[in-house]
Amino acid sequence: MDHTYEDQNIFAKILRGEIPNATVLETEHSLAFNDISPQAPAHVLVIPKGPYVCFDHFAAAASDAEIADFTRAVGEVCRLAGVAADGYRLIANAGRDGVQDVPHLHVHVLGGRRLGRMLSPVS
Ligand code: 5GP
Repeated sequence: MDHTYEDQNIFAKILRGEIPNATVLETEHSLAFNDISPQAPAHVLVIPKGPYVCFDHFAAAASDAEIADFTRAVGEVCRLAGVAADGYRLIANAGRDGVQDVPHLHVHVLGGRRLGRMLSPVS
């Protein structure tokens, strides 16, 4: 998959302050904000501040400090969103088959209701 970063994507604009967001958490290397079109009572997006397209790009190219910060930010958002006790789902869509709409790595933190099974079994 092409990891060329496209800096006009909507999350790049949020990071530059060109578009507002409902911030849940900001750390040195990460930002978390409510999804504009929530698919569960709690639906928060966590993104690294660096220019990473998807998870495998981030895992290969980010510094240890960025990876630690992002991982801890996701965990903290689970607590801040109030879903840590009853459970939640993390989703990181990537590329064509993952049906990723915004080409800047983001982890969806979803919870606040029973979410159902993840996917249909392959027949
Ligand atoms: P993807 O399909 O790429 O995994 O998810 C992109 C997510 O970004 C979607 O859940 C969509 O609702 C959310 N989104 C798209 N544009 C905006 C925006 O301008 N602000 C916020 N907060 N979320 C957005």
